[in-house]
Amino acid sequence: MTAPGLIETCHPTALSQHPLRVFTLTGVSPGPVLALIGAVHGDELEGPLTLSALMQYLDPARLCGQLILCPAANAEALAASTRCSPSDGLNLARCFPGDPKGAPTEVLAALIAEHVIRPADALVDLHSGGGPVDCPVFAGYGDAPATRTANLAMARAFGAPVIWRHPAPIASGRTLSEADASGIPAIYIEAGGGTFPTEDILEAYSDGVRRVMAHLGMIDSAPLTATAPLFVAGNGDLDAAIMAPASGLCSCRVSLLDKISAGQPCFDITDIDGRLLHTIAAQADGITMFLRRSRWVSKGDLLMASATPDD
Ligand SMILES: [Zn+2]
Repeated sequence: MTAPGLIETCHPTALSQHPLRVFTLTGVSPGPVLALIGAVHGDELEGPLTLSALMQYLDPARLCGQLILCPAANAEALAASTRCSPSDGLNLARCFPGDPKGAPTEVLAALIAEHVIRPADALVDLHSGGGPVDCPVFAGYGDAPATRTANLAMARAFGAPVIWRHPAPIASGRTLSEADASGIPAIYIEAGGGTFPTEDILEAYSDGVRRVMAHLGMIDSAPLTATAPLFVAGNGDLDAAIMAPASGLCSCRVSLLDKISAGQPCFDITDIDGRLLHTIAAQADGITMFLRRSRWVSKGDLLMASATPDD
């Protein structure tokens, strides 16, 4: 095993100004290898902030095993504060396992798969709602037979107030589908912070990562969790959620984690003079997990995604 301490490795990407920076933090004792990823989407700052802080305060003398830290997975999108890559318009979270000969984001996905995900024994991918969308803090995991028990245990260990189970097979192109293909337990985290994460959310992320590390036996102790989680289920595919049918001013009639019924009006879109253009209703019974928070919406923007109770 590598000598204890922090090492940075820069992997060249298709964009010379944005190499993939990967840090390994090796502890003094043997143990599992945990991969931690942030900023797969460039407008989600919780991951980079949590992981850069973790690198500062974690003492290798108190660590068993190794962290592989990738705080700025999509450095190009992070620099532009955009969800997708400006160079090719691709969503890194739809590009795995990637293609070394493909578009810049596909090259990047292949590098992350090779140097961050596949060398690990477990993966935590830190996302958030980004600028325009709100959601509760939750841990999501795939319900594949080979990894479901370890995935759920990690999701519980993180201590988020909501745990979202996604039925197998997990949608392709994700870090989680890449991990699942190699039998590596994985979870992802979401919260509503986006471009302005609060101290509360950053603390939840930092404490959660430490709880996962303690669960894996990498550190001795971690902060205790406060509450029992709410369990929900559903595919969680934001590409197939309720989208705005027109551009305009949007007002939302429901709140996060509300129980909603099929047909229940959830959004009104008006023109700038206040004339009602559309009322948008829920398509199915469920629990609201993602809600638009920007008052102006463009046609095709995500308005809402929901899940179902998972008892
Ligand atoms: Zn994301």
